[in-house]
Amino acid sequence: MRKESGSPSGELGALVQPKRLAEDLWRLVCIPSPTGQERDVAMSFAEMLGAAGAEVEVDETLQESPNVIGRLQGSSAGPVLQLAGHLDHIPVDHAEPQRTERIISGRGSADMKCGLAGILEIVRVLKESGCPFPGQILVTAYGLHEAPFGDSRGLLNLIERGIHGEAAIVFEGMRDRAVVMGKGQSIWNINVVREGEVCHELSREPEADRLLETTVRVIERLREKKEELAAAGHGYPLLGPQSLFIGQVHFGDFYNRVPKQAFLQGTWRWHPDRRFQDVRGELGVLLSGIARPENITIEDSWIFVGEAFSIDPEETIVRALRKAYRSVSGMPLELAGSSSILDVNRLVPFAGIPAVSVSLDGERAHADYEYVRLDRMERGCRVALQTALDYLSGEC
Ligand SMILES: [Zn+2]
Repeated sequence: MRKESGSPSGELGALVQPKRLAEDLWRLVCIPSPTGQERDVAMSFAEMLGAAGAEVEVDETLQESPNVIGRLQGSSAGPVLQLAGHLDHIPVDHAEPQRTERIISGRGSADMKCGLAGILEIVRVLKESGCPFPGQILVTAYGLHEAPFGDSRGLLNLIERGIHGEAAIVFEGMRDRAVVMGKGQSIWNINVVREGEVCHELSREPEADRLLETTVRVIERLREKKEELAAAGHGYPLLGPQSLFIGQVHFGDFYNRVPKQAFLQGTWRWHPDRRFQDVRGELGVLLSGIARPENITIEDSWIFVGEAFSIDPEETIVRALRKAYRSVSGMPLELAGSSSILDVNRLVPFAGIPAVSVSLDGERAHADYEYVRLDRMERGCRVALQTALDYLSGEC
């Protein structure tokens, strides 16, 4: 085992037990928890968290998606560090969970029950060693995370009620990178609708053809905006340009029927110097500038996914993470930006706290065959444990 500079936090890292991580992950993976149906796994997680040594409360504001809140008090006064993770997985079928010496597979294993198992092990190690840290560990686990059915109500409820730390570690994210900024993201929908009925091609009024012409114009304007965003200068080398993406275009449903509606859907990802409302306003202006006949309307609606954020790399929690990573792996941890949405995108802008992400092994998230490598899990858990201890003690 690698020697970790003889620091108290490094010594505790050696107490992480891969076997217990695997047992906990296995138990959690065997309880299905598609978004919106997290009750069973929440109750089991609450029980496991209590057994690990935390004081646990189950908040049932959301009946089918309860929040689990756990607290572990340190041996002296100090800051509150939040360990956060979501309980749900995407509602996509997967083969039954399987287990070997090296991996555990199943829906939700990588995203992110491995992280929840990591949280349990950290609480257990800290409790067993007599809670040798100042302050408090606050565990929050919640459902309704995965878009498009999840809208993060669980986590946002906690934030609104002031249940968050002074800093947080989110147990999923980019592996081997310290994410210090992230793009915001929203799904946009555009409906182009004409007055009148759906009819046979041969009995249509000439104006019916304007629906297609207007839809093409919308696509063309979106394409121009996409290129404009891609070419625009910006101050975020870690993130790259803003992006506008078209994922779906639906026009018509039969070869000789005249439709009355077209539907487009895609994403917009923006920089930390903008907010969701800015982007929404910009698309609104773009759409209202598109020429259209009187019988056609263009409407936009949005599914907000997450806000953009950036945090100072000199924040204690970032310094603690980079120090811990170097100590466990022997390698430096580079700073990075993220284009995908993590709960960091909620904690930083809405709770107003610095947050980092630690991935135990999320590489196979959302894959047809989702699995976790147990050796990676152990390493990630040790990095997170040491980050927590160094943050709480201020030794970084
Ligand atoms: Zn996830």
